[in-house]
Amino acid sequence: MNDNPHQPDPSDQTERPVLVLNAGSSSLKYQLLVPESGEVSASGVIERIGESGSDVADHAAALEAMRARLADDGVDLDAVSLRAVGHRVVHGGPDFSEPVVIDDDVVARIQALSPLAPLHNPAAVTGIEAARSHFDVPHVAVFDTAFFSTLPPEASTYAVPRDLAQKHAIRRYGFHGTSHQFVSRASAELLGRPVEELNQVVLHLGNGCSASAIRGGVAIETSMGLTPLQGLVMGTRSGDVDPGLHAFLSRQVGLSIDEIDEMLNKRSGLLGLTGVNDFRELSKRLDAGDEAARLALDVFVHRLKHYVGAYLAHLGRIDVLVFTAGVGQNSPRVRAGLANGLDGLGIAVDPARNEADGGRVTEPTVISPDGSRVVVAVVPTNEELAIARQTADLVH
Ligand code: AMP
Repeated sequence: MNDNPHQPDPSDQTERPVLVLNAGSSSLKYQLLVPESGEVSASGVIERIGESGSDVADHAAALEAMRARLADDGVDLDAVSLRAVGHRVVHGGPDFSEPVVIDDDVVARIQALSPLAPLHNPAAVTGIEAARSHFDVPHVAVFDTAFFSTLPPEASTYAVPRDLAQKHAIRRYGFHGTSHQFVSRASAELLGRPVEELNQVVLHLGNGCSASAIRGGVAIETSMGLTPLQGLVMGTRSGDVDPGLHAFLSRQVGLSIDEIDEMLNKRSGLLGLTGVNDFRELSKRLDAGDEAARLALDVFVHRLKHYVGAYLAHLGRIDVLVFTAGVGQNSPRVRAGLANGLDGLGIAVDPARNEADGGRVTEPTVISPDGSRVVVAVVPTNEELAIARQTADLVH
């Protein structure tokens, strides 16, 4: 018998759910799930927090709204005996290389990292503070950058003046780390081989897109950088451009730095090239023979190949190439496009496997032909489950 809610009887631990929260500046995504089984009892999003005309004034009100929504779905938060709350935090900066149990000091350190993630970290702190007042259980922060804290210096260092970089913690951090880590473990399971033996390239292609090179389970390269703007072409983000573009736009077009930042983050990528950022709409346009859509897909795939080639050079050998996230799991066109012409590198996609069920993959699946040098796989990501498991690992 143990009445302390922080240290419940371990025998009933595995039944109890973890609440995973992802607080943005005006939204709160939530999922209630049991980490061991992965069983989800509820999930959703509270939107328009703090916006004019919204009923939800702040993150505390958002938690009340979530509680009411859960009750509507038949889930009584007081009755489920919550084990812990896991918070997704975008930027762990140089400080956090692993998930941590949250205390006042951790909150202050996440807040102090705000210059590195001015949109994300203050929102995360607001969400964490509200949730700590609301739920008297352990809270854990899981950082999107943590998996990439292992990048070697030659991969994380930008060739800018050293003093400046050191003073402001300017380096490649990488993002989507929870997904890259989860997927690289799941792909090893799919192959029935220890992750320590595998060289992997993981392509997380969703609204945001990132690639990583993983040797023996340890990340050695990734395409996102100081911010999530670097690397692959994304829904609304440009990915790589000539860094000289900023000066050009400032001098020649008279754009301010905020305007350039907004344009590259919100109005570029697939949206900038075609007017739509959703791959489903892009696919329809491709089917209709739209030329702007064709070019956008070609640019998207060209950039992917660029990174796969670079990561082959860094790894020396790729055993597994994994697609994940909304586009990676649902677009056979992108997967076939990447493999096209890469036979010489041992990378090939079997058309029947790639296009089975309309190309929509819901379970880890191999799509390369039998006997391929590189196993090409599609592995659905599940960041909430990964956060719930990492949270449970820290509080048991
Ligand atoms: P994510 O960020 O992982 O949720 O991925 C979101 C993106 O996945 C959407 O913007 C779509 O572009 C893409 N997506 C989702 N479902 C499909 C589908 N059935 N076919 C093609 N793309 C899809």
